[in-house]
Amino acid sequence: MTAKSLFSVGFGEFQKTLADLGMPAFRAKQVQEWIFRKFVFSFDEMTNLSLADREKLKAAFPKILPPVEKYLQDRDGTSKVVVKLGDDELVEAVAIPDEDSLTFCLSTQVGCPVGCVFCRTGEMGFKRNLSSDEIMLQVMLLVKRTGKKPTNIVFMGMGEPFLNRKALYEAIDMLTDPQGLGLATRRITISTSGVVEGIAELISRPGEVNLAVSLHVADNATRNTLVPINKKFPLEKLKEAISSYCTHTSRRVTLEVVLLKNVNDQLQDAMNLVSFCEGLLVHVNIVRFNHFPGSNYEPSPEKDEKEFRKILKKAGIAVTVRKSRGQEILAACGQLAGKSDDQEKK
Ligand code: SF4
Repeated sequence: MTAKSLFSVGFGEFQKTLADLGMPAFRAKQVQEWIFRKFVFSFDEMTNLSLADREKLKAAFPKILPPVEKYLQDRDGTSKVVVKLGDDELVEAVAIPDEDSLTFCLSTQVGCPVGCVFCRTGEMGFKRNLSSDEIMLQVMLLVKRTGKKPTNIVFMGMGEPFLNRKALYEAIDMLTDPQGLGLATRRITISTSGVVEGIAELISRPGEVNLAVSLHVADNATRNTLVPINKKFPLEKLKEAISSYCTHTSRRVTLEVVLLKNVNDQLQDAMNLVSFCEGLLVHVNIVRFNHFPGSNYEPSPEKDEKEFRKILKKAGIAVTVRKSRGQEILAACGQLAGKSDDQEKK
């Protein structure tokens, strides 16, 4: 990543940089309007800027957006961008259009240190944290691809967002800045595998950022094997943190559960989950597991999933089933792996 990435400087610093280059005060606003309102990413196309200033901008910020390794498009409309970073690492982000929404699913790390056993990113191991501008670049590449501003952002791509909190919050600040895309914080969701200290910090921040927790199972022994970070932040501590988030924000937390055949889809698993939900303002989102090459896990059979849901509903817990999107291009949750090779369909 070049040090001169336009997204590596805050809006205030951007204005100062342009002033230092001898440009008038309104120039920064004009450039921001081209990028964040008109989705134009070439200085040459910013026709209300003088030729001299366009040249100065090109010299200061040689590339507004980095090269794209690959764009992939699923028949269901989901698209995935594989971004090549300055050190040649690859990172993926996904745009999921629906009838009246457009959700961008963003990555915060290259690889992931958490190592959930059913996750393709987890299999990669951890390489490094992303910077806030590398997160912003994912957003703007998807904006360029779709031609639209997202309605929702979910930090649910590669990596554990709460293990890269500085960059995460810098990116959220840019996303919500009225000079940028101006998204409302309530349109943003952070999905964590259960990093308790991250939940505590989120509570102390202003705004209405949503919380999702990839719970998957509600007994420590099984969760220790599926989501190894559970050994550090066991269910009792996690429940306390979720409860505290609900109390402080009055916002409902989403508990994500990827149902795996004979692993966490049995009657006892459903009952454990019911106990975990007691006293919490939560809803459970059942996520269908998408098998990927080399995975030892299989999705729960439909009849078991139905039974599982029935038990939760009977206990008064709101349950949804997340539609699986982007299967053809391995864009679903837990399938991102920064691959650009032939393992992925074009
Ligand atoms: S599911 Fe999320 S937290 Fe777990 S390994 Fe994959 S990217 Fe990391």
